[in-house]
Amino acid sequence: HAAIVDLSTGRFLLVDAPVAGLADELLRRSVSELLFSAGPDGNPPPRVRPVLSALGISGTPCPAWHFRTQEAHEIVREVFGVRSLGGFGLADDDAAIPAAGAILRYLRTTQPAQKATLAHLQPPKREDPGGWCVLDATSLRSLEVLSTLRGASAARPGAPGRSAPASTDPSSGDGSLAGIFAPSKHFPGCRTPMGRRLLRDWLCRPLCDLDRIVARQRAVSTFVEDRRAAADLGAALAGVQDVSRICSRIALARATPRDLVALGRSLAQVQALRAAVENAPALTPQRESLAGVEAALAPLAAEIARVCVDSPPPHLREGGLIRDGVDAELDQARLLRTDAGAWMAEYQARLIQEHDLPSLKVGFNKIFGYYIELPAAQARRAPDAFSRKQTLKNAERYITPELREFESKVTTAEARALQREQALFDDLCARCAHAVRSIHVFADACAELDVLLCFADKAVKRSWIAPRIVPEPALRIDQGRHPVLDEILENNFVPNDLSLGALAESPADGAPADSAPLALITGPNMAGKSTFIRQTALLVLLAHCGCFVPASAATIGLTDRIFTRVGADDALHAGQSTFMVEMIETARILHHATPRSLVVLDEIGRGTSTLDGLSLAWAIAETLAGASGVPAASTPRTLFATHYHELTDLEELLPGRVRNLQVAVREWGDDIVFLHR
Ligand code: ADP
Repeated sequence: HAAIVDLSTGRFLLVDAPVAGLADELLRRSVSELLFSAGPDGNPPPRVRPVLSALGISGTPCPAWHFRTQEAHEIVREVFGVRSLGGFGLADDDAAIPAAGAILRYLRTTQPAQKATLAHLQPPKREDPGGWCVLDATSLRSLEVLSTLRGASAARPGAPGRSAPASTDPSSGDGSLAGIFAPSKHFPGCRTPMGRRLLRDWLCRPLCDLDRIVARQRAVSTFVEDRRAAADLGAALAGVQDVSRICSRIALARATPRDLVALGRSLAQVQALRAAVENAPALTPQRESLAGVEAALAPLAAEIARVCVDSPPPHLREGGLIRDGVDAELDQARLLRTDAGAWMAEYQARLIQEHDLPSLKVGFNKIFGYYIELPAAQARRAPDAFSRKQTLKNAERYITPELREFESKVTTAEARALQREQALFDDLCARCAHAVRSIHVFADACAELDVLLCFADKAVKRSWIAPRIVPEPALRIDQGRHPVLDEILENNFVPNDLSLGALAESPADGAPADSAPLALITGPNMAGKSTFIRQTALLVLLAHCGCFVPASAATIGLTDRIFTRVGADDALHAGQSTFMVEMIETARILHHATPRSLVVLDEIGRGTSTLDGLSLAWAIAETLAGASGVPAASTPRTLFATHYHELTDLEELLPGRVRNLQVAVREWGDDIVFLHR
């Protein structure tokens, strides 16, 4: 059991997972610090060690009593001001409460005291354990969902990276799946930082719930069909800044005047956002969220706009945040400063006349304050009332009791003005902090709309289609394209079809209702085998995110897990041979794949001698195809790319289970032409 806090956004999650899955979960969430209950020797308990080493961090020991249920309960209730946790949908004996309590105690002691509060922390929420299509950390990496293997190995020297070619053209992202959704010259991408974070989150945890997937698809369709609403929403979102993070800075008393004004401007978009989704039934949840907080946020936004100037200073040290005419006390204090120029001119004229010193000047500078200046040649004629303040090369500077009195009046006025500005600023920040729950609701709605709009923009721009999601474990893709390579190669990518597993009914276009669950893909190096199998995994992944897919038609059976064993990635398994890693991962797949899983294997059995490798590949393919009398419908959908041609015999030995696909090449004179088909 673990609790996870993202202090910058205030998210607070409780998760349960077996130790192996927990490391994946924490990696996926880019956890950077891990607290554990220290034993008497201060060392992490044995079950925590593998998690720490997977994350590559050392961990922070905490006293064991921080994890005691009773104490944990106390602090959770205290921080959130509740008597019971039932309101958060948590049982009082929830197994992750000790972890939640330990985090809160740790935050209390580590966050700068005084003004900082934990007010922006959202109440702990339990992640729904089911409902996700699981992608482990290995698959995320090898499918290059968030970053390319090349990119990751650049950051991690020594790691080899065999991968689909990374793009060198900056306009098509960094070569990862997330990269094609990034904003660029030709594509708007997500408009807000919250949207960009949520997009990565969605790509890492696709859904496995038909209704939720279809709900997202409908929302995307709305923006595909109604480009006007899409444009309105895009414009409104473009005005929204990182309100989650600003909110956290406000709660931690680290907000700047610019943060406050940016927050005000972002919240001011609430009406425009709601209006943009007004007539879309598919966007009811988001519209209701926005409508629910509008009454709290619109006046707050208006107040910030009324009180604060349009281009605020980076900090409050010299003031300048609050508009004139907002606060009488501030205006009065400021008046003295603006009047100072006139007073000085008048005083200078008076002194010149009284003492007949035509070159006399009254001036001011930040370091020495107010002064009367005479050229050195006239210094002898300075009246007695002048007391010397500073000697320059060609001039003498003086002060008089009258000037001193004026100076102190101005200085106190300025201090008063600053104080007043600070008070008004603090007051607005306090009002924002008070509205923190509404602001989080606003931020979440913005993030969701942002990602849905980004999916729609991509679908329109690259002619993606809505896949039909069905409950049975089947897969039909017509004219599928690799989402990343397709962009890099522009129109030179060769689309391909695929059909795996049995459908309940024949699709209308005459595609077969029944086909083998395992496809064996052979062909020479560079023919496009890896590209094809990765493309399939990526399309299934995208479809489970509720996104459209690059194909002309697709029927995708609900998938509980995507397993991949592609390429060598030894960096995280220091001390084990490539072969060992491959076998461990393959064993894991064979043990855990269900009829609803998708398994993608590339060149299994390379790390050993040819005959051993062939035997292994054969046995693995046979097991996955369900050789030992199991019904075809109870085996996972599998794509098996191999250079062992001997395996193609399986098609005849296991009819209806295995189907051979070959990537076509043609000889052209002395050359080989890869048709990628
Ligand atoms: P293999 O796994 O068979 O060795 P790859 O999948 O690595 O081959 O593909 C080799 C190269 O061929 C890729 O880098 C890509 O540029 C190109 N390629 C692969 N599939 C296609 C396709 N469908 N259309 C166009 N080019 C492709």
